[in-house]
Amino acid sequence: MAPPPRRRRPTGGRRNRVAPPTAGARQNNGRAAPASRRNINEPLNEAPLPRAEVLEALPVVALVGRPNTGKSTLFNRLTRSRRALVAPTPGVTRDRNIGMATLGERRVLLIDTGGFEADEGEQLAQAVRAQALVAADAADVVVAVLDARAGLNPLDRLLIERLRPLRQPVLVAVNKVDTAKQDDLVHEFFALGVEPLYPISAEHGIGVGELLDAVVAHLPDEVEAAASEAEPPTSVAIIGRPNVGKSSLLNRLVGYERSIVSAVPGTTRDALDTPITRNQRAYVLVDTAGVRRRPRVQAHIERASVVRALRAIERAEVGVLLIDGVEGMTEQDARVAGYAWERGRALLLLVNKWDAVPDDRRDAKTVLDDIDHRYPSLTVVPKRVISARTGKGVERIWAAIDAVAAAHRARLPTAKVNAVLEAATRAQEPPMVRGVRPRLFYATQTASAPPTITIFCNAPERITPAYERFLLNRLRDTFGLEGTPLRLKFRARPRRAR
Ligand code: GDP
Ligand code: GDP
Repeated sequence: MAPPPRRRRPTGGRRNRVAPPTAGARQNNGRAAPASRRNINEPLNEAPLPRAEVLEALPVVALVGRPNTGKSTLFNRLTRSRRALVAPTPGVTRDRNIGMATLGERRVLLIDTGGFEADEGEQLAQAVRAQALVAADAADVVVAVLDARAGLNPLDRLLIERLRPLRQPVLVAVNKVDTAKQDDLVHEFFALGVEPLYPISAEHGIGVGELLDAVVAHLPDEVEAAASEAEPPTSVAIIGRPNVGKSSLLNRLVGYERSIVSAVPGTTRDALDTPITRNQRAYVLVDTAGVRRRPRVQAHIERASVVRALRAIERAEVGVLLIDGVEGMTEQDARVAGYAWERGRALLLLVNKWDAVPDDRRDAKTVLDDIDHRYPSLTVVPKRVISARTGKGVERIWAAIDAVAAAHRARLPTAKVNAVLEAATRAQEPPMVRGVRPRLFYATQTASAPPTITIFCNAPERITPAYERFLLNRLRDTFGLEGTPLRLKFRARPRRAR
């Protein structure tokens, strides 16, 4: 095995004499797969995120490269098992560009920047620069994916030039080297002056294990989760598009001086989390440094902010999504909300700048109802209007955070859960599917944060989505659970031991 790879800055000349690492890397394919490759396909982990992990720092790995080099193929390969965990939420656009991956022992957030380049009319060169900016802003490790079959492209050179000054380690994968015969394809990429190169076939999984081992070797050290018996603090991420008023709200919530003084280094290197206590309750405001940081390049603020929001969500229990009340809710707002929801986070939606909303539109009920109407899946998310500028509604945010956090951690008594389901099935039987009418036997909560109920039945695969929604609504009618996802799992009834 090669020693852990290091990114080398070219020091001029000489580079061509270094033998390409292809041969050695390829021989590994016959051997037992390295840890990183085995674990990619690990069976579905049914457990929800343990509480301790909610605060865990997730390192971010960004995939960059021109369109069509195979980024999404690699992304899918690495996130496959994780993404299967995420139940689609009807009505909310899914974001396919961010996913969890388990590399060896480490869990990471994987970002496929390819998805961010779709802006109409944006030139490729600009897209490449933008990717580099996103990587610089959000990643702990950058993987540049180049296309061996297309050969070295001027845009590849541009990308590598852009990545060179970053503080993050950059690994260069040369993709589409599908057979040993094609190893020669890698040679021309040595002109980039980057070593080692990682020849891979994202499609066939060849060489990917070696690449991942290198990624893992470059990840920042794991932060130990604080072991504590006490109720953990509620971690809160304030998220939203640029200029919606996040830092104004943050200042209101923590007080400007106080937030500076009490800011302590958080669980990742570049994030500053702010612990605060309100009414004897402990909270951690996640990535408050990111909230304050001013992006440098105007044109790319939006995309960088999405990445930052998603990253903050990964580390928080409660997402507080700020909407600009003057502009109204946008598709991007909905995407971020959908992502937080799919990731099982509690959510609170605040329509800010209420003071600036014109009189003829300043009717809170109409505005909030309209959001429900346009995004039905957000109906169960509590919504408030506030003004970070005047302070209107700000003090009540704490109670709203407590409420959604409590719903998120709720323990639902088994007897009551079963009573609700019994009444529900009596009112409306599960519909027949291919000649079989599913029967529900017994249910119990199997996880919290978010609450997850497992229902044992005779034909789990024949429960229709509509019927599942019906059951979810019945459960919500009884238990409330505003602002938290609620999940159902259907399992075949376990065999009785005899
Ligand atoms: P992206 O635009 O960078 O996300 O690229 P995609 O993942 O969409 O891949 C672009 C094309 O390259 C698709 O047709 C893939 O099937 C193909 N491709 C991806 N990886 C490989 C590979 O390892 N070998 C070959 N031969 N084709 C690949
Ligand atoms: P961020 O980019 O989301 O952190 O947004 P900022 O907190 O920097 O706010 C962006 C702009 O919106 C600033 O000019 C703020 O003064 C203004 N702003 C923030 N909150 C309010 C509000 O409640 N009402 C009005 N009228 N303006 C606000």
